[in-house]
Amino acid sequence: MTNPFTLKFDNRFATLGERFYTPMPPEGVSRDPYMISTNPAAAALIGLPAEALQHAHAAEIFAGTRELPGGKPLAMVYSGHQFGQWAGQLGDGRALLLAQVRNNAGELWDIQLKGGGKTPYSRFGDGRAVLRSCIREYLCGEAMAALHIPTTRGLCIVGTNELVLRETMEPGAVFTRLARSHVRFGHFEHFYYNDMHDELRQLADHVIEEFFDEARNAPAHQRYGLWLTEVVARTATLLAQWQAAGFCHGVMNTDNMSILGLTLDYGPFGFLERFDPSYICNHSDHHGRYAYSEQPSIALWNLYALAHALQPLIKSEESSAILKQFEPVFLTHYKRLMRAKLGIAEAERGDDALLAELLGLMREGGADYTLSFSALANSVDAPEMFTTLFHPSAREKAKLWLSGYHGRMRGAALEALHNVNPRYSLRNWVAEVAIRDAQDKGDYTTLEAVLNIISHPFDAHPEYTHFMQSAPEAYRELCVSCSS
Ligand code: AMP
Ligand code: MG
Repeated sequence: MTNPFTLKFDNRFATLGERFYTPMPPEGVSRDPYMISTNPAAAALIGLPAEALQHAHAAEIFAGTRELPGGKPLAMVYSGHQFGQWAGQLGDGRALLLAQVRNNAGELWDIQLKGGGKTPYSRFGDGRAVLRSCIREYLCGEAMAALHIPTTRGLCIVGTNELVLRETMEPGAVFTRLARSHVRFGHFEHFYYNDMHDELRQLADHVIEEFFDEARNAPAHQRYGLWLTEVVARTATLLAQWQAAGFCHGVMNTDNMSILGLTLDYGPFGFLERFDPSYICNHSDHHGRYAYSEQPSIALWNLYALAHALQPLIKSEESSAILKQFEPVFLTHYKRLMRAKLGIAEAERGDDALLAELLGLMREGGADYTLSFSALANSVDAPEMFTTLFHPSAREKAKLWLSGYHGRMRGAALEALHNVNPRYSLRNWVAEVAIRDAQDKGDYTTLEAVLNIISHPFDAHPEYTHFMQSAPEAYRELCVSCSS
């Protein structure tokens, strides 16, 4: 095969200069790396032929051991607020931007390694990633993409044959992720709090030129205001999508907030199973700052932190007015998405109450979030599939709700809901089965099966229906934390 890695390189971020990053090749790994999983759907996004990932050099390139010719590897610097406190300088501590490329549609994409070794921003960390967290991030990015939720994507996972110390020694891996950009709210905070206001403007112009058409084409005095307006709108829309999908991020620090409104940095995330708005997916989050129900207001908190850092570009009176848009944009999208989950195209009076009643009942009856909505599609012919999701004490009420709902739908074809409400979400226990098979047995067939299921979550996958269910006994006590 001739060099299959001849991508259209366009290393834009590198043109900003070294106040924005440290140029450096990845440390790489010492032993022979090997390909664990490849994702042709993501390869297509950057114009990489799927065969390239099978090339003899692919594992070394995506372990950081072999150079990707045309790339300009660099570690970005950023800062951020973590759990509400200013954390100062952070940065790509175990991530490295390998290259930026344009696909045939002219879109710019970052190729980033995670776990490829130390950088000047590693602080006390080892710059490594464990296979467990690589698999979780890989699967979840693809699950979100399949739900049409903006996200980073997973290109491949390479095994390193090295052990990495976390709570125990664990097999190491390098994850390659793709994103239109990895720039975070925390990038702007970094330049603001370090009094580097020229760089702040330079970075704002950099993202506007590439990703914010309206701001780019606007008169100079409206440029930054329109940009922030769009960032607020994208973030509010993203949060509406998270809430509707029952996705809980777990670590919504400003350094994990994408300026493009992507879901970024999957750590201790979780999808709701038994519906509980106060669900906390991150076991290190003792006060529930990032509980499911808190996510929209935390996103707004983070936008305030961003707007504060953008004061040199946008006066606070203007940004205050812009931030007021968050709530209406969020609510409009959230309500539209939730109506769609019920199959309601045209809103009527009483729809908000219908939804609120259902969520209340799901909470009271401990019903599974994904399964409850999924069961609506067959609820005329098989109402028990819906009602038995509720604790026996709440089943009569669930039946009553269902008959009210059927009345509201007036014979509409509910089967079409199978295209709206996924049958499968990436349950932590399912990811864990894939992880244990990979870690303990070197068997990646479950990983591939789960990747396929969550990439097509609206399909039935009859041979895997057990992965639709909530955790069996052996997986009930799963604990996910920031450690990865
Ligand atoms: P996170 O909580 O994963 O968003 O990470 C917060 C910061 O810690 C980021 O700047 C990471 O780059 C850094 N970090 C996390 N884990 C490691 C590690 N194993 N080695 C080096 N840096 C890390
Ligand atoms: Mg992070």
